[in-house]
Amino acid sequence: RAKADPHVPHARYDSRMDEPSRTRVALLDDLAQALTRGEIQVHYQAQHDTMTGAVVGYEALARWTHPQRGAISPAVFIPLAEETGLIDAIGAFVLREACQLAAREPQPVRVAVNVSAVQLCDPRFDRLVHQILVDTGLSPARLELELTETALITHRDRALHAMRRLKALGVQIAVDDFGVGYSSLEAINLFPIDKIKIDRSFVTTYDVEPKGRMLLKAIITIGESLQVPILAEGVETPAQLAFLRSVGCTQVQGFLLDHPRRREHLPLDEERDGDGVAEVA
Ligand code: C2E
Ligand code: MG
Ligand code: MG
Ligand code: MG
Repeated sequence: RAKADPHVPHARYDSRMDEPSRTRVALLDDLAQALTRGEIQVHYQAQHDTMTGAVVGYEALARWTHPQRGAISPAVFIPLAEETGLIDAIGAFVLREACQLAAREPQPVRVAVNVSAVQLCDPRFDRLVHQILVDTGLSPARLELELTETALITHRDRALHAMRRLKALGVQIAVDDFGVGYSSLEAINLFPIDKIKIDRSFVTTYDVEPKGRMLLKAIITIGESLQVPILAEGVETPAQLAFLRSVGCTQVQGFLLDHPRRREHLPLDEERDGDGVAEVA
């Protein structure tokens, strides 16, 4: 995706537009105000060690509550933010908020933050990350940046440079939605990656699609060979969890174990052993 020029004025209403385009334009206008109006929030979803059930990290997920339309999915507003350049401000907000939370967390768990290709390709991005780490006092090793394989391959050279600078800061890099892009193996071959997140679609279909089982096993074997931990996303059933455990998947994340929730609802300072994975095992 080409980097949007934030100086291009927004398209305005046009009576010839169809309904979806009108909604889109209206949303674009509202999104420009959303951050300053406090409508954007960050929710967190736990990531668990598959074997022990311990929480090893949280993924930060942006939420937009529109004053009239209610909750708008990040699958809708993040692409709009990328097109308009608003992703820089929204992304920085999510990053700072997530690092603040993790810095307060007494246990040394990680916080994972999604980074869009637009942010990664901004030559000032590593300086922003460094500044936020300094301001919040978070140890760089506890910050994990999630990049999709499509973002990496599409912007290969710039992405590689950016990733080297980020690694030099000491932050971790995870590949998100692994397996659904066009160049999954190329992505793990070319880039210095610390974690692979298997796309939810493999977990969802493994039991109905016999091939799915094989693919999950194969991806986990790749991770083992490269000594890169593998996290399976979208774990919704005890059967899926049992299977992932049996094939040695390192970490799991999904509605079975935890839903994304506001920071106020996180069990900070609480005893978390036995929470989630162990109970449903
Ligand atoms: P993602 O990074 O792959 O995040 C995982 C998505 O799966 C989240 O959707 C999460 O709520 C959802 N999920 C987790 N467990 C389950 C499950 O068991 N079942 C099902 N059906 N879904 C599950 P969400 O929060 O709607 O986010 C969608 C996507 O929007 C994210 O996919 C990510 O690509 C993007 N996104 C969200 N927040 C940010 C952000 O701050 N910055 C950027 N650049 N992208 C973001
Ligand atoms: Mg993610
Ligand atoms: Mg994902
Ligand atoms: Mg995704």
